[in-house]
Amino acid sequence: MVSFELYIKYMVILLRYRDNDVFCFYITSYVPFEKKPMNNDLVPAINFHLWKYCNFKCKFCFATYEDESELYNLKSHLSENEMLKIIDEISEQKITKITFAGGEPMLCKWLTNLIKYSKAKGLTTMIVTNGYLLNEKWLQNLNGTLDWITLSIDTIDSKNQIKIGRETKGKYISENDFLEKVKLIKNHNIRFKLNTVVNSVNRNENLIEFVKKIKPERWKIFQVLPIEGQNDLYINQLLISKLEYDNYLKRHKEVEKYGIEIVAEDNDLMTGSYLMIDPQGRLYDNVNGKYNYSQSILEIGFNKAREQISLNKRKFVERKGLYEWS
Ligand code: SF4
Repeated sequence: MVSFELYIKYMVILLRYRDNDVFCFYITSYVPFEKKPMNNDLVPAINFHLWKYCNFKCKFCFATYEDESELYNLKSHLSENEMLKIIDEISEQKITKITFAGGEPMLCKWLTNLIKYSKAKGLTTMIVTNGYLLNEKWLQNLNGTLDWITLSIDTIDSKNQIKIGRETKGKYISENDFLEKVKLIKNHNIRFKLNTVVNSVNRNENLIEFVKKIKPERWKIFQVLPIEGQNDLYINQLLISKLEYDNYLKRHKEVEKYGIEIVAEDNDLMTGSYLMIDPQGRLYDNVNGKYNYSQSILEIGFNKAREQISLNKRKFVERKGLYEWS
């Protein structure tokens, strides 16, 4: 049976043999609508993980790139020029939003230039940050070129921040500091999103009052995800069941009454639904519970690299990956 997503192009040649009055039909071509596998469509949003380094050490972190430690010992990240070339490649695709992530992207000294360059190329710009380095001076330097900031906040309980590893040398971001940082973001007319990873440490918490105060446009709530080679060391202590995750969602549903959109991503929706670039400039996917990397985009180009990874557009849409971001 032919799927509705296939377009069958056929040409029928009718040959009439006048002698015996026989009609012969030949199907001369059969061309699938999309040559790539059906679940490998490009999505319009990409996450560029610039940087392996982070000032925090969250135990569930799934961007440690420890699976490629030998490679990273030789070359930990791309140069500024190489990153700009990758942005050139991205802007030639049907991609309209770029999210700079890490590690911690604000540790990258030329992040501001990357944001400005992406904006000039017509992309919607976003960063995902733990917020530790976020300040007025940094925001002023952007001159309105950053469209979105996502803050990663799993808890405002100091003990739990330490337990999770959201700290640097015992210093963590307090509730008041978070409130100040969100105020700065909003004063600069930057759109604000919140990310929370639900795990065994924070699963029973209630963040409703805090979230109402900071009022993100979108609140992504993730179920902590094991990725082989990224977070093997501690992940077993942090895993939660689907039921525990669903309970967390249910408990916080109330915030939707205040105009905050909850975006729920359980382990299934987080798998295969992101288009991602690693700090070496390779596309990668997580469909098999570990990372599968393409060759470098700088060596083979974006389109060839894309053929080497899997991406499920249906899941991207299902996890509300498509929204009004510009
Ligand atoms: S702040 Fe983000 S990048 Fe840094 S360790 Fe935590 S999860 Fe990983």
